[in-house]
Parts: sequence; structure tokens; C-alpha cells
Amino acid sequence: MSDSSSPLSVLKRVFGYDSFRGEQQAIVEHLVAGHDALVLMPTGAGKSLCYQVPALIRPGTAIVVSPLIALMQDQVDALRELGVRAAFLNSSQEWDDIREVENAFVRGELDFLYVAPERLLTDRCLRLLERGHIALFAIDEAHCVSQWGHDFRPEYLGLSRLQEQWPDVPRIALTATATPQTRDEIAQRLGLTQARHFVAGFDRPNIRYVIVEKSDVRRQLLAFLREEHAGDSGIVYCLSRNKTEDTAEFLCREGIDAMAYHAGLPAELRAQRQARFLREDGVVMVATIAFGMGINKPDVRFVAHIDLPKSVEGYYQETGRAGRDGLPATAWMAYGLQDVVQQRKMIDDSTGDEFFKRRSSTQLDAMLALCETVQCRRTRLLAYFGQPSKPCGNCDVCLTPPQTWDGTVAAQKILSA
Ligand code: ADP
Ligand code: MG
Ligand code: ZN
Repeated sequence: MSDSSSPLSVLKRVFGYDSFRGEQQAIVEHLVAGHDALVLMPTGAGKSLCYQVPALIRPGTAIVVSPLIALMQDQVDALRELGVRAAFLNSSQEWDDIREVENAFVRGELDFLYVAPERLLTDRCLRLLERGHIALFAIDEAHCVSQWGHDFRPEYLGLSRLQEQWPDVPRIALTATATPQTRDEIAQRLGLTQARHFVAGFDRPNIRYVIVEKSDVRRQLLAFLREEHAGDSGIVYCLSRNKTEDTAEFLCREGIDAMAYHAGLPAELRAQRQARFLREDGVVMVATIAFGMGINKPDVRFVAHIDLPKSVEGYYQETGRAGRDGLPATAWMAYGLQDVVQQRKMIDDSTGDEFFKRRSSTQLDAMLALCETVQCRRTRLLAYFGQPSKPCGNCDVCLTPPQTWDGTVAAQKILSA
């Protein structure tokens, strides 16, 4: 490998960064050498570079599978700005554009081709890929293949075909969801049995976790914002679209610069509000979980949940949008028994099959366990991802341990009487 195509020089020259973070370099070298990898790193840790750097070192085009069109567009735009030849194929395109991208790929004029999974698995696309040279396959958001995960996409199941059709092309699967169970499922379903696993720590030490008992949740939220995050940027997550609008209105009336965001709003308005949130300081986005994927705002100071998330994975991912800059941030949640009743009912009433109901209910139970724990929240959260840790001294439980009846003291008194 010549010096100008070493991982570090590509990192500097193309991306403008001085050094790799964590295990990035080891992962890059592993891919450059032609091996498969399964990468588990929290959101914001820098998974993209793990496939982008080797893609530029290996000859040919990197095929990147990504589940969201918006995400794809952002990544392609960012790469083009760096002078890298990148394009995407998805359902939002006109035929002319599609043909142009296809021709560029065949002529070897692309470093990156981003493809939605359902498009990749069409005959047309598989035949196309046969006609070019592939540097590597990157499967982003790989947890989408897990039926037990919170974001299952059936199209991902077909991706094991890549291994069958291109056994010699290295593959890298990346996700921020890392329960040991999901990890095994990803490896198995994508046929990544030979892949080396790179698992980063999931702790976000600058996030303070707080879960309060829900009473008058709007008032509680308002007090939290005023007392701890006046003037800060942050996200408030709600379960329903109506609630995001009601809550945003309420906060505005109380003098807070809040906006609602959900999938039911016109695309233009969504884009406009998202841009405002990213650009300006001190905007509070009151949103459903439709908001957040691919949002790269480093100074989100708090994430508040006024409804119970459906899973610990969701909670971790959503709260993980706080404090990406490493400065102190708060993950605040109000939780009450009515949340549990409501969600159990939603599961029961849903049109999902038995498997879906069982999975949803298991996920809800894990989320409840985190709310009801008398242990450190962080310890509990990390344990869910298979990572042991000591009490953090920073979460609500560590700072104000719940009053529990101390059986040992009572027993000692009896014994010593
Ligand atoms: P992930 O996919 O793990 O959520 P991204 O790949 O989107 O994370 O990276 C998050 C941010 O961190 C991006 O802005 C990226 O440019 C930055 N980043 C990643 N690796 C490095 C590095 N080695 N040095 C500096 N910035 C980095
Ligand atoms: Mg990513
Ligand atoms: Zn703690």
C-alpha cells in the first residue's frame, strides 16, 4: 500500500480529520485486507468512516445499503462536497436519473453507490452490479434485519444474497443496536458468520439519566425546561401526532420556542422546521420518533420523553441524540402506570400477528424494568446491551436512592436484641 493510500492519509486528505477514533482504524484495515466485519457502535461514534475510508482505498465502487432515503441523500451530498464520486438509487428518482447513475457505475466512475434494500434486491439492480466492479458492501442500520429489534424491515432479510452472489467481496454491517441477541441475529441473517465483531462501549458518560413519576406531565416538563435547560436546544418525544402539536402550543404559550414535528406534516414544513432546529440555538422540537434519524446536531442539550418509549433500544437511540458534543446533557422522562396500560392496549389492539405482539410485549417489559429499577439507570441501561458497569453517581437513582425498606438493618436489630 503506497503511503498516499494509507488509511490515515485518506482520512486526512479526503475527510480532513487528523486521527481515527476508537476502533475505526482497525476496522478500516480489516476491510482493506478483504475481511468481513460487524460493527456495533453508538450513534454519533463515527460508523460511516469505517466503510468510507476502505471504500476509497479498495478499487471499485462501494455499495452502501441504507434504509432511509433522506439519510442516503445527506450522505451522498456530504461525500460530493468532499469531492468524492457518490450517487444513489432509490424510489424517489426519475428514469433518466436512474439510467445516468447506472451508466456511471458500469463505467467505473463512482466511488460510492447508495442503494435502498428493496431496490438492491431487484433483478435489474443485481444484474447491474454484475457489470461493474465492487469494492465492498456496507450494510448500514443492520439491526433492521432483526425481527426482535425495534426497526425491522423485511427487505433486509434478502441481503444474505450478497454473500451468495459475491462471496469474495468484503462486507461490513453497522448498527448502533447491540444487545447480544440482536448481534447474533444480524450475523446469522446476513450470513456474516466469518465476520470479526468490533464492539464499542455504549456508555454516554455526559448524559444524565432522569426518570420521574408522571403526574401533570406538561407542568413537569415546563418546570424541567425552565429550571434546567432554559434557552437550550432539545427534543421532546411524544407518542402521538396530536400530542406533539398540543404540547408545542402549550410550550409556546409559556414562552418557549417550540415546534411540532411528525410524519403527518407536509414535507416542506417538516424540512423547514428541521432546518430551523439545526441552524438556530434554543429551539425545542416536540416530535414523534419520525424526527431524529440522521439528525447530526452536536449541541442538543436535552431529550425529554413525555410518553414511554416502546423499547430500550428506542430509548437509547433517542436519548443518544443529546450531548453529541460531549458536554453535559440530560435524558429526562416522565413515566406513569397509565403509559403501561395504554401501551399494553395498543399492543393488544394492533393488527400485528402473535409474534409481533409477543415481541412488543417483551420490549415493553424491558423498558418498564428500566423505569422501575432501584439500581443505577446507566448500569441498567448498559447491562441491557450486555455491558457491565459501576453505578454512575450521576443519574436520578444514584443521586437520590429510592426509599426502600432495609431488611438487613431490621434483621440485625432482631439478632442483636
Ligand atoms: P454514526 O453513523 O456512528 O452515527 P457518523 O458516521 O454519522 O456516526 O459520524 C458522526 C460524526 O462524527 C460525523 O460528523 C463525523 O464526521 C464525525 N467523525 C467520525 N469520525 C471522526 C474522526 N475520526 N475524527 C473527527 N470526526 C469524526
Ligand atoms: Mg450512521
Ligand atoms: Zn447512576
